[in-house]
Amino acid sequence: MSLIHKSAAELGALVAGGEVSAVEVAQAHLDRIAAVDPQVNAFLHVDVETTLGQARAVDARRAAGEDLGPLAGVPIAHKDVFTTVDMPTTAGSKILEGYRPPYDATVTRRLREAGLVILGKTNLDEFAMGSSTENSAYGPTRNPWDLNRVPGGSSGGSSAAVAAYEAPLSTGTDTGGSIRQPAAVTGIVGMKPTYGGSSRYGLIAFASSLDTPGPFARNVMDAALLHEAFSGHDAMDSTSIDAPVPSVVEAARNGDVAGLRIGVVKEFGGDGYQAGVLARFHETVELLESLGAKVVEVSCPSFTTALPAYYLIAPSEASSNLARFDAMRYGLRVGDDGTRSAEEVMALTRAAGFGPEVKRRIILGTYALSSGYYDAYYGQAQKVRTLIARDFEAAFHQVDVLVSPTTPTTAFPIGERADDPMAMYLADLCTIPTNLAGNAAISVPCGLADEDGLPVGLQVMAPVLGDDRCYRVAAAVERALEGRWGGGLLSKAPAL
Ligand code: GLN
Repeated sequence: MSLIHKSAAELGALVAGGEVSAVEVAQAHLDRIAAVDPQVNAFLHVDVETTLGQARAVDARRAAGEDLGPLAGVPIAHKDVFTTVDMPTTAGSKILEGYRPPYDATVTRRLREAGLVILGKTNLDEFAMGSSTENSAYGPTRNPWDLNRVPGGSSGGSSAAVAAYEAPLSTGTDTGGSIRQPAAVTGIVGMKPTYGGSSRYGLIAFASSLDTPGPFARNVMDAALLHEAFSGHDAMDSTSIDAPVPSVVEAARNGDVAGLRIGVVKEFGGDGYQAGVLARFHETVELLESLGAKVVEVSCPSFTTALPAYYLIAPSEASSNLARFDAMRYGLRVGDDGTRSAEEVMALTRAAGFGPEVKRRIILGTYALSSGYYDAYYGQAQKVRTLIARDFEAAFHQVDVLVSPTTPTTAFPIGERADDPMAMYLADLCTIPTNLAGNAAISVPCGLADEDGLPVGLQVMAPVLGDDRCYRVAAAVERALEGRWGGGLLSKAPAL
């Protein structure tokens, strides 16, 4: 088996055992990127010398007899919304074109400390606003299963890179579904940790009360290893949780669901869901039951109001966060020819630098926060948020985890929803409640839809700091289905 087809855990073991060098592993992935990324467009920035330099440093540490962790020498694709001192950071926006951050995000720093080799920065919807990666200022990313379809979003570059074997691991951020939804539609594993379980320091902010960094991988154990590598308390993030990281690696190894109480969310899975998605979902629930889980239906009535509440809260926070792009501090500056006021330059820069979806969010958010409307919109949405958290709380008195399809449909064609924001927003129907309540959820592949042969994801939701339960259930599903797919689900991907 070639190096690019190995898991992160296998690559880490090979490097630790001295069987292959980190440089060889990095080179194999750089070659793969050179071969397929012109078609996939998962990466916004790849710097061969910087990558090989990191790999050489890992090899030197090994040669010096240092005890390297399980992921040392393993390549990773890093979402271009985390700051990196040695690579540009654009957030998929023209307004940050050419921006070089003066510091590393905490997630970036921890990747380096774990000896992970950062291959480059991945494409995303501008400022992580979107579900298809079509909102990137740098062109869309394509789904490795079908190059005419989207890889999901906003972390679509990260999902596509892993699905296309350009990297065994990648990072994402999930504000409303941006890790779980792209993972589902590209047939890989994606985890949104408990809010505050992974650091936002150095993450370019979209909606600060929702933004959560998390891992992508081709299997559950690799995702758990990466989760543990960059999670945990960070004094630089005021909302970081000061508690031990849930034992997700242990849970991924365990994968036992006997006696586990699983709740099927009644509100998710009716009209508007693709038949093939529902078929795979229900089969997987039955499978879990056959493995000894106790399955019941659970009603969470306020989940149906999560989407409108999110589209008030997230744009409100975005309108405030994006005010910092004022033409003075970062990146682009337009019209500064000595004749214009600072205000005019700012207006021209923001008009030229932000794309249409980002402008829509800023306008929506500014409106929702404006005096006279604040209580009717933002205040109301915050109340809905409380109701959703209460629904979760009540549900987790009855069951250990909740399950649903990750997203109502498989990957849709590029262009299909680009001019229909409402259709685009619906991709996150099932993922958003978890962001509003701050708990943990994972998406794990559970088969292919009959209509189109495209991957379907199962979403497993757990209470705050119950991240390990997500991995336990995901590992059970992965193990039970493994046999059916021979070389893994991705071996069925026809495009590459
Ligand atoms: N698709 C959702 C949005 O556009 C969620 C994005 C995200 O999680 N970053 O806001």
